[in-house]
Amino acid sequence: MRAFVYERASSEAAAIHAASMLAQSPEAQGRPPVEYLAGGTTLVDLMKLDVMRPAKVVDLGALAGVHDVISVAPGGVRLGAMVKMSAAADHPEIVKNYPVVAQSLQLAASAQLRNMATLGGNVLQRTRCPYFRDTSWIACNKRDPGSGCAAMDGLNRQHAILGGSPDCIATYPGDFAQSLIALDATVSVAGASGFRTIPFAGLHRLPGATPNAETVLAPGDLITGFNVPAGPWTRRSLYLKVRDRQSYEFALASAAVAIDMVGSKVREARIALGGVATIPWRSREAEDTLAGKILTETVAEAAARAAFADARPRAHNAFKIALGQSTLVRALLQAAELEG
Ligand SMILES: Cc1cc2nc3c(=O)[nH]c(=O)nc-3n(C[C@H](O)[C@H](O)[C@H](O)COP(=O)(O)OP(=O)(O)OC[C@H]3O[C@@H](n4cnc5c(N)ncnc54)[C@H](O)[C@@H]3O)c2cc1C
Ligand code: SF4
Repeated sequence: MRAFVYERASSEAAAIHAASMLAQSPEAQGRPPVEYLAGGTTLVDLMKLDVMRPAKVVDLGALAGVHDVISVAPGGVRLGAMVKMSAAADHPEIVKNYPVVAQSLQLAASAQLRNMATLGGNVLQRTRCPYFRDTSWIACNKRDPGSGCAAMDGLNRQHAILGGSPDCIATYPGDFAQSLIALDATVSVAGASGFRTIPFAGLHRLPGATPNAETVLAPGDLITGFNVPAGPWTRRSLYLKVRDRQSYEFALASAAVAIDMVGSKVREARIALGGVATIPWRSREAEDTLAGKILTETVAEAAARAAFADARPRAHNAFKIALGQSTLVRALLQAAELEG
């Protein structure tokens, strides 16, 4: 691992100051200036692989007491950025009233990782593209802009069929993000110029010509929490994840669904897809197909076809179209059976 400066921030303001100052300093030249350290389960992993090379690491551990709170109110739930994945996954109110959120966390990683990893770090985890994680591959535009993309004509079974560009087809790997985007959550951000709230759907950027720029966050921006609004669809919601093995594995395809129904008719549906796209992926096409319809298998299949109409497979990942469609159909039909 390369040498780096370690600093333990004593307050939120100190963390932002440490991160923002370095971003403008000559010390940072040629290296990404600073990374926050939360649970470290992505960051330390990638530093050891020499994929992430921050000049400075600012430890957020001392902020845990401020930002590890879960507050539930009639209008929604607030999840602090330092909340551990396991704490949110097992919270009784979230399990009962926001099952898609709880399940997206329960089905992620392993118990040990969930006890260590935070929600803020989770949404900013990096892709599992093997060419990104192995520096012996020269061509990776995400790791080294302008170097090319080894996955495009390489082994791309895991890669994205939605939201890709000629420069990158890496899949966004997380699960929790799908539940946030489906439920119209927002993200609270503190930065050098103050506080702001952004829609979760606006946090991640499509790869386009700059796959290295993954989010709209500026250097030093600190995620402080997530707000998930309550809606008539939140209780009838679930997360379905399909992977190569039953546990401790990333999604090949997943679906986060939340449905407001009157009898067997869909009033409004919220749908997000994981494992198949370059960013957390909301499928408005599938939602529009379902609105106002009786939720039969035929209607669910039509919604699934709409969700993948723009899919662009490469040599080894065309199977994800059928897999993603059947995952969504199963998720919709299971959700229809739930109590609203
Ligand atoms: C073997 C393995 C299997 C896994 N399986 C899954 C899975 O199935 N599903 C899944 O969703 N995830 C999975 N993960 C990923 C895991 O969930 C993430 O590594 C974890 O959630 C990251 O959180 P962290 O607190 O450890 O972040 P860290 O590693 O500390 O940080 C990650 C990144 O986020 C930044 N960051 C952290 N907190 C903040 C903040 N508050 N504001 C701004 N920036 C911040 C850091 O600077 C860093 O760039 C797996 C990980 C491993 C190692
Ligand atoms: S898909 Fe993206 S992350 Fe993977 S090699 Fe290509 S540019 Fe790199």
